[in-house]
Amino acid sequence: MAPTHVLRCCQRGLAWIPVIFIALVVCWSYYAYVVELCIFTIPSIGEQIVYLIFFHLSFVMFVWSYWKTIFTKPANPSKEFCLPKAEKERYEKEERPESQQEILWRAASSLPLYTRTGAGAIRYCDRCQVIKPDRCHHCSACDMCVLKMDHHCPWVNNCVGFSNYKFFILFLAYSLVYCLFIAATVLQYFIKFWTNELTDTPAKFHVLFLFFVAAMFCISILSLFSYHLWLVGKNRSTIEAFRAPVFRTGSDKNGFSLGFRKNIAQVFGDQKKYWLLPVFTRKDSREETKPKPLKPGRWSDVPHPTGQHRRGAGHSDTAVRAQ
Ligand SMILES: [Zn+2]
Ligand SMILES: [Zn+2]
Repeated sequence: MAPTHVLRCCQRGLAWIPVIFIALVVCWSYYAYVVELCIFTIPSIGEQIVYLIFFHLSFVMFVWSYWKTIFTKPANPSKEFCLPKAEKERYEKEERPESQQEILWRAASSLPLYTRTGAGAIRYCDRCQVIKPDRCHHCSACDMCVLKMDHHCPWVNNCVGFSNYKFFILFLAYSLVYCLFIAATVLQYFIKFWTNELTDTPAKFHVLFLFFVAAMFCISILSLFSYHLWLVGKNRSTIEAFRAPVFRTGSDKNGFSLGFRKNIAQVFGDQKKYWLLPVFTRKDSREETKPKPLKPGRWSDVPHPTGQHRRGAGHSDTAVRAQ
């Protein structure tokens, strides 16, 4: 086995450590809440039943959305974004960047592309050998181009992007609900711990740590969740929040915003009854990259990187999309 292959396998194995850590904390929290708190600590049967019903509801939704975020494969660019075989060979043989761009400009002429690099060049991934669709980025951890890449999340050991962004948001929401519920219901027993009203058994230490861990996770998840809700409202990915996409009219952080309601629907789908369920509710990845109504100024007005003007400077939206 080649040393690089062994190294890659080790890296892949180590990447699961944060996920295993979270899984262990969740398993312990389940045991501590159900057994040590509800069965051994809470004296009232009625209180036990109510707590256990709500606990299991939030637990199932949390684990379901976490599972879906981890195991939903990132979406890759479709075949139409790959260079045709002959063009690819020409591109690889060509050494001058200007000529390579010329090949890309020709290949991209039939693709629905709105964004370019900062220098106005076609966004191309040398590693995957594809023209990058709008909002697509190459993830070095996954070693692939990911549609509407948001970020690579070590806590789910997966890329968060077009295929699982809704699941990721729901995972944050349900983990927040799970931690808040635990913290709120454990609070009175946490106070009893400090006033020495709990019987002296190991259960009281589980109660103590349950509150600490739930409160700690609550604080950290709340800030991340609020930030992502704000991004959803703006139709912006984390990458775009740091580096605005470049359109024909220049860079624009709000270039993909369609208005608050449509921005929400792009992530959660049109049917409100599925919004809270971690199931995929959108059909077309191109919808995701449809910018707001185009402003004046077209790519054809932008000088070609090789110094020439683009040919076929049409004025219809179709012509703009085709350039
Ligand atoms: Zn790539
Ligand atoms: Zn990734």
